[in-house]
Amino acid sequence: EWAERGAAKIVEEVKDKDTGTVVKKIVSRGIKDFKFGQEIGDGSFSRVLLATSIHNPSEKYAIKVLSKSYLVKQNKVKYVNIEKMALQRLNKLDTVVKMFFTFQDQSSLYFVLEYAPYGDFLSIMKEYGTLSEECTKYYSAQIIDAIEDLHKAGIIHRDIKPENILLDANRRIKLTDFGTAKILEKDEKTGSYDLLTRSKSFVGTAEYVSPELLNDSYTDYKCDIWAFGCILFQMIAGKPPFKASNEYLTFQKVQKLQYAFSAGFPTVIRDLVKRILLKQPEKRLEIKDIKTHMFYNDVDFKTIWLMEPPVIQ
Ligand code: ATP
Repeated sequence: EWAERGAAKIVEEVKDKDTGTVVKKIVSRGIKDFKFGQEIGDGSFSRVLLATSIHNPSEKYAIKVLSKSYLVKQNKVKYVNIEKMALQRLNKLDTVVKMFFTFQDQSSLYFVLEYAPYGDFLSIMKEYGTLSEECTKYYSAQIIDAIEDLHKAGIIHRDIKPENILLDANRRIKLTDFGTAKILEKDEKTGSYDLLTRSKSFVGTAEYVSPELLNDSYTDYKCDIWAFGCILFQMIAGKPPFKASNEYLTFQKVQKLQYAFSAGFPTVIRDLVKRILLKQPEKRLEIKDIKTHMFYNDVDFKTIWLMEPPVIQ
C-alpha cells in the first residue's frame, strides 16, 4: 500500500528559461527538498513540522513525520495507511486538508500537507473561551458542511473534535486527522456508499464519543453528527457537554445524557443541540435537517465558504 518507496515522484509544472513555455516534468521529492522549521503540533504517533520548499521558499507546508519503528512497535501501521487512503480519496475537497504527496526514508514516513496557518480550533476555543453567536454560526455551518462532504465521499471520520479542525490561510475550516476514519466501499449495485455500515472498533475521544458506541458497541456515520452537536454546544458554553475528571466518568455522563445548558444559552441553538444529542441515533437530526434548522436560516451553505470570516470573539 505504501507505494512510493523513498522519494516521491510528482508532476511539476516548470517554466522553460529560454522559451518561457510551461512544461510538465516528473520530479523527485524527498527530505532534501525541504527546509524544516518549527514544530507546529504533535499527536500520539507523529510530529508536525513547518517546512518550506528549497525550490520555492514561498511555498510552506506542514509535514507530518511518523517514526516507522514506533508505528510498528505500537501496532499502528494500519492507521497510517488508512489516513493516507482517506486523504487521497478526499484530495479534491476544499473542506479537507490537502495532502500533496508522501515519501519516506529509512526511519520515517512523511506526509506533505497543506499548511493551515491559523492552527486548530481547540487553540481558538482555549484562547477565547466561548464564541459569539455569529462566530458559532459561521464556523459550525462550515463544519457540518465539511462533514457532509466526507460522508458523500464514503468516509466516516469517527474522531471529529476541535483539535482536528484546522483554520486555513483564509481562516476557513479544514478537517484533518483521518487515522481512525472508516473508508467505505461503493455498493456495486447502487453505486453509492452504505453509510449505515456498522463498525465495532472503539475509536474516538471520550468527550465526543456517541452513546451507541458505548452501549451497543457499534457506530456509523451518525457518530460524526453526535460529535458535531458536542462541538456546537462547546462553542457557546466554552466546554464540551460531557466532561468529567476521567474517561470512565465522562462515558457515564454520555450514557446518561447528562448535560445542562447554562442560563444564557441561546434558545435557537439550544433547540438544535437538543435534537442532535439524542441517545437513539435514528432520532438524531440528519445533516440535511441540521442545515435547514432555524439557526441557519440566513446561512447560504455555498457562499459561507467565500465569505469573509467574522472577527473571532
Ligand atoms: P492524534 O494524536 O490526535 O491522533 P495525530 O498524530 O494524528 O494526532 P494530527 O492531529 O494530524 O496528528 O496533528 C497534530 C496537531 O498538529 C494538530 O492538532 C494541529 O495542531 C497540528 N497540525 C496538523 N496538521 C496541520 C496542518 N496541516 N497545518 C497546521 N497545523 C497542523
